[in-house]
Amino acid sequence: MDRDQPLRIRHFVGGESVDSADGATFTSVSPIDNSVFATVALGGTAEVDRAVATARAAFGPWSRTPVARRRELLHAVADLIDARTDELAELDTRDMGAPISDTRVLDVPRSAAILRFFGTWAENAATEAYHRPELGTLTYTLREPLGVIAAIAPWNLPLLSMAWKLGPALAFGNTVVMKPAEQSPVTATLLAQMCQEAGIPDGVVNVVHGYGPDSAGEALSVHPGVDGVAFTGSSATGRVLMRNGAATLKRLSLELGGKSANIVCADADLDAAVAGSVRAIVANNGQMCVAGSRALIHRSIYDEFLARFVDEVATWTIGDPLDPTTRLGPLVSEEHLANVLRYVDIARAEGAKVLLGGTRVEELPMGPYLRPTVLVDANDQMRCAREEIFGPVLVAMPFDELDEAIARANDSDYGLAGMVWTRDLDTAQKVAREVRTGNLWVNTFMARDPRAPFGGYKNSGIGREGGDYSQEFYTEAKQVVLKTG
Ligand code: NAD
Repeated sequence: MDRDQPLRIRHFVGGESVDSADGATFTSVSPIDNSVFATVALGGTAEVDRAVATARAAFGPWSRTPVARRRELLHAVADLIDARTDELAELDTRDMGAPISDTRVLDVPRSAAILRFFGTWAENAATEAYHRPELGTLTYTLREPLGVIAAIAPWNLPLLSMAWKLGPALAFGNTVVMKPAEQSPVTATLLAQMCQEAGIPDGVVNVVHGYGPDSAGEALSVHPGVDGVAFTGSSATGRVLMRNGAATLKRLSLELGGKSANIVCADADLDAAVAGSVRAIVANNGQMCVAGSRALIHRSIYDEFLARFVDEVATWTIGDPLDPTTRLGPLVSEEHLANVLRYVDIARAEGAKVLLGGTRVEELPMGPYLRPTVLVDANDQMRCAREEIFGPVLVAMPFDELDEAIARANDSDYGLAGMVWTRDLDTAQKVAREVRTGNLWVNTFMARDPRAPFGGYKNSGIGREGGDYSQEFYTEAKQVVLKTG
């Protein structure tokens, strides 16, 4: 990588790097210093038409490729990712600002692991059979690949969120057109190239770059040749995808936003609760769908918890995300920072107070660096407590009774994640049962088993990723009834 020159990123279709038919491009800016990081081909209907036709042509042979061979190929891609960990981590860090201490240690290795996981999972997938001797029938289920998948990803975990789509899509025999976020287009392109290098046939994995509305994203969402859209992004875009997919009845997997409650009980191990709660809102600069952005803290420990929270945040060094000692880099863009700061202003106007942060980092004027922020004196109806801010902005509110905390956790349009910190097993299980959310962590945060369902209730999504849940999305199920005599 020549670090002084912007990268040149092209579409990847049928195994070739190609420009747009009209030569259009856009630029992707690195938030580290707001410099142009990449000049990227800007795709639209023509590029999507070509990529979908290519993926469609590759579908038949790939869907008939033995599953064990598909597993070998996915494992080979994972090995290539592992071999290029440092490079891929640096690219994602430059592209969207996550600290290299995260991208190198967490995001890139997990991307390789998820491809391996799905390669093996698909090979071992069981099927069901029902024998009815009295009817003389054996009924069994065939799982067949869905077809051409549009994989549309956000910028907050560029490589990993794409791996969570590409892995199961390929393992279960589908072909793919990836559309990475316009803010972070680089590593998806390399991922497609590594698929080719590993031996996956040309046309099985394609990439078209561009924006969402009136661009590559929208063109994919309405394309009659796309069978399923695997989407991670905002709830607002999820609604548009449902509308756009209606005409062709597309299957949709929607992993959307959140405003998750983090319940800290009076009997919590405070050291663990503070460390976990800080991580839940500050890691990746709060740019996490599962961020614990609404802390509900028992009134008896409220002041102590906040004092300790502020001390713990101070240990998170803010700076150049390429420095391995940095734990907090910039937000993804100046535009996003302005949006996050606008929420802080709205919170003030509604009567909340800023306990910590709330301003950009003056010593780092070269990019959109923000001080982690804590809002207090808020209530459940304020916009800062209801809307996804997608930045390191915690709304902290006291509670008195557990039932009250659960009711307030549920008083949300979202239902993606939740946390509870307690030493009492009954309390933990009650919260786990009663909070209406797709993921619930007890005395921990973020741990995830790829076999388990990941997804959201309410406005946080439709469908689940993980193990058999991914198989459900990426395959058609066919009933076969055999006359046994
Ligand atoms: P976004 O919805 O703006 O964009 C996501 C992707 O959709 C991008 O590739 C974008 O180009 C594309 N897109 C936008 N409009 C489109 C349209 N009309 N048609 C087709 N494609 C379109 O979201 P974002 O700002 O990139 O990401 C942040 C959001 O993602 C947050 O809400 C966050 O909670 C959510 N998220 C959810 C999960 C999850 O697993 N539930 C994980 C990560 C992020």
